[in-house]
Amino acid sequence: MVVAENMHKYFGRLQVLRGIDMEVRRGEVCCVVGPSGSGKSTFLRCINHLEKISAGRLWVGGELMGYRQRSGKLYELHDSQVARQRRGIGMVFQNFNLFPHMTVLGNVMEAPVRVKGRSRSQVRSEALELLDRVGLADKAAEYPRQLSGGQQQRVAIARALAMRPELMLFDEPTSALDPELVGEVLDVMKGLAEEGMTMLVVTHEMGFAREVGDKLVFMDEGVVVESGEPRRVLSEPQHERTRSFLSKVL
Ligand code: ATP
Ligand code: MG
Repeated sequence: MVVAENMHKYFGRLQVLRGIDMEVRRGEVCCVVGPSGSGKSTFLRCINHLEKISAGRLWVGGELMGYRQRSGKLYELHDSQVARQRRGIGMVFQNFNLFPHMTVLGNVMEAPVRVKGRSRSQVRSEALELLDRVGLADKAAEYPRQLSGGQQQRVAIARALAMRPELMLFDEPTSALDPELVGEVLDVMKGLAEEGMTMLVVTHEMGFAREVGDKLVFMDEGVVVESGEPRRVLSEPQHERTRSFLSKVL
């Protein structure tokens, strides 16, 4: 589903990703951990082409993201084609990023109506189903500011799902939440995983990584230092850098 090959990313002269190789198969949950500044968010943003990679290759669902390859050469896709590729990828951020002037239902309906041009009545019933699925059917008419952080993040997940993505990216979805609200968001994510969604999750929740993850990737300074079965990586890290990081977060 996601294949990164020798992926590099520079911001000016700052090299943030230094040759990432990674594969996430369809239906897999891959958790990414690593110190602040190691390039985790940049990696996720490159996957949905919010950032252009500087070198290497990146495939999502069998397609090169942002490019077309012909006789070994890369050509940039038109914006409309990139937008089409992006529609298959949902993203959830640390700070929810809901539209403050729209109701919960409005937030979930916005993209399918505007971007896909689908009928409001059809989208509406699907959106209500999604809100039910994240446990917020009774909040449809409220505004984001009336909700707790955990509720807002569940709306953000429903909003991403409304585009029927085949891949979901989560960038520290519970880091901005009070501890007692973390569980309700992780439960929704766990449910998604059980339904077979392919997920890439940047997180500090090692319990989630161990329980729900199929794979755990440890990133440091723009490279994948180590990856594998979460229990194995957590209990028998092979590299000193991984050991030192885990000793601080576990
Ligand atoms: P955190 O755990 O704090 O979220 P991270 O692993 O997600 O960290 P990134 O946000 O990917 O790290 O940042 C990696 C490096 O890239 C940092 O040095 C950051 O300052 C730099 N960086 C990120 N985005 C940009 C940008 N748009 N322009 C310039 N530098 C950037
Ligand atoms: Mg980050």
